[in-house]
Amino acid sequence: MIDFLIIGGGIAGLSAGARLSEHGSVTVLEAEDALGYHASGRSAALFEEGYGPPSVVALNKASAEFFFTNDYLTPRGLMLVAKSDQADQFRKDLSELGMAEISVADALVHVPVLNPESVAYAALSEGAYDIDTDRMLQDFARTIRANAGSVLTRQKVTRIRKDGNWLVEAADVFQARTIVNAAGAWADEVARMAGIAPIGITPRRRSMARLPAPGGHPGGNDLKNWPMMLGAGETWYAKPDAGKLLVSPSEADPVEPHDAYADDMVLAEGLARYEEMVTSPVTRVETNWAGLRSFAPDGTLVLGPDPSDETFVWSAGQGGYGFQTAPAASRLVADLALGRAPELDAAMVSALSVTRLR
Ligand SMILES: Cc1cc2nc3c(=O)[nH]c(=O)nc-3n(C[C@H](O)[C@H](O)[C@H](O)COP(=O)(O)OP(=O)(O)OC[C@H]3O[C@@H](n4cnc5c(N)ncnc54)[C@H](O)[C@@H]3O)c2cc1C
Repeated sequence: MIDFLIIGGGIAGLSAGARLSEHGSVTVLEAEDALGYHASGRSAALFEEGYGPPSVVALNKASAEFFFTNDYLTPRGLMLVAKSDQADQFRKDLSELGMAEISVADALVHVPVLNPESVAYAALSEGAYDIDTDRMLQDFARTIRANAGSVLTRQKVTRIRKDGNWLVEAADVFQARTIVNAAGAWADEVARMAGIAPIGITPRRRSMARLPAPGGHPGGNDLKNWPMMLGAGETWYAKPDAGKLLVSPSEADPVEPHDAYADDMVLAEGLARYEEMVTSPVTRVETNWAGLRSFAPDGTLVLGPDPSDETFVWSAGQGGYGFQTAPAASRLVADLALGRAPELDAAMVSALSVTRLR
């Protein structure tokens, strides 16, 4: 009999599993051949404390110490850029993200390819970091195994029944006291299998293109030190990555849960929005991909036991914040699953609860 059976081998499932493995037996079931195959393997890997709605920002802040202590962060910085007709949006983003306005001339010092004829406003935050997401996933999996837990791939859950305890059918059959639903885009599907009411998770596609280093800035120190660039209103972003530049159209198109791939037209339009702000044209896309950011109806995470059955625990709706919130979100999931008083304050716990959606 397993104490905590976790469905989903992404960052949500592995981080919750690592926390819980210190208090009971844990098995993680992942449908795919590899951990982090879906959203968790396709992220932009950014930590920005001020990014997200209030309950996400609370989780970001509560996660910061864990990130620094375990050395998962490398300074990146975030630069907001806007055109002359985007003044209102620029001010809104500036205050939401708590950024400081800088001159366009200063912005060009940081990112020499910015086009001073199209960039009218710029702001910079030093408090944005690259997250070592691969190491996070592997470290959480290692913690589970070190605590005598199991992390199993090729175990797609197809049937869930309750007969006193949970009976979960995948490639093998598992018996568990508590299920943690960390199935990302498939979280509602897993709930339905278990006879638990779905919460209205919407997977939203976000595409990404990898470009060669912009002209004149081959992947040396220069590009490496550029901040991530964000178009006002989150209409595109660009981020240096191992000598290349990742550019995303920042779309949030609702889709069914699936193995996501980039939409060519959406990608082309996003690249055009980026290209408008720089002097170096996009000549080639080396590769592209997409991932699903899965949101609850109110856009924030859903963490904790279901009110209809406390042995069914949600860790879903991570949206675009699954990595930066994982340290605190997994602690909250574990606290609630173990019946311990959460470290987060009560208002935040309730803003993240399943009950708020019912
Ligand atoms: C383009 C992009 C950029 C992003 N940038 C950032 C960023 O900069 N910072 C940040 O913090 N976050 C970012 N995110 C969001 C982050 O990647 C997600 O919030 C996070 O990865 C979600 O993790 P998860 O474990 O909930 O989902 P997933 O990683 O999708 O894991 C869920 C797993 O459940 C498995 N599963 C589903 N059904 C079953 C079943 N029946 N049986 C067994 N297994 C099952 C799936 O195979 C999957 O592996 C980004 C996302 C995208 C797509």
